[in-house]
Amino acid sequence: MAAHSLDILAIAAHRDDVEQTCGGTLLKMAQHGHRTGILDLTQGEMGTRGTAEDRRREAEKAAEILRVSWRQALDIPDGRVENTWENRLKVARVIREQRPRVVILPYWQGRHPDHYTASVLGYEACFVAGLAKLDVNQGARGQESGASQNAAAFPPHRPFKIIYATLYYDIRPTFVVDITDQFEARFQSLMAYKSQYSDQEAGKDLFPAAAEIRARTEAMARFYGLLGGVNYAEPFLQKEVGLVEDLTLIPVKSI
Ligand SMILES: [Zn+2]
Repeated sequence: MAAHSLDILAIAAHRDDVEQTCGGTLLKMAQHGHRTGILDLTQGEMGTRGTAEDRRREAEKAAEILRVSWRQALDIPDGRVENTWENRLKVARVIREQRPRVVILPYWQGRHPDHYTASVLGYEACFVAGLAKLDVNQGARGQESGASQNAAAFPPHRPFKIIYATLYYDIRPTFVVDITDQFEARFQSLMAYKSQYSDQEAGKDLFPAAAEIRARTEAMARFYGLLGGVNYAEPFLQKEVGLVEDLTLIPVKSI
């Protein structure tokens, strides 16, 4: 089972969130030999354009472009991501099954309630997934002894590291990942969502045309690239401090 564990799992509210916020990083990690995955909390049934089924096909195509090994969407209602016990168990189940070392969550503030709620929900699910006596399929087992078959198959697990993708919110990241070589593929993964981003009349104001998306995506990646002294980058935040072994190897020029 350990052989199939994910190294990195990105959790986000909507299909195409990950493509926008950390798709280049996921592709880069896959190119480095890491096993990556995406958990979308919702299926996109509230989208202005297209159906949840359209969205599923597009998400599969995008995952292929980003060389993601595993992708799944939960059945949490689109536009109504709530941090309930039931939803925490749903996410915790996935964390126990996929056993990621690193989890990428959205940043905990933002415009869209689904995004910031997904952040807190994801964090608390990581915590819950590590509770030794909790059967995530049946709820708390209390003092009852003996583990169910599922609990035995998927023992408690907590990721070692949780980082936050901050692209949706204007906050200074604690680090950026150089995606200069992945930028083009990441853009193509976003364009895989044809029902969202191709030129159409419906919802035109809400979903600008591909050329404008391109300009916007490029400007953001360039901005964070400049902060890191590279061409294109994606921004992240960690709550912990950075640990340094050798001062001469700290990247990013000061002066
Ligand atoms: Zn979203």
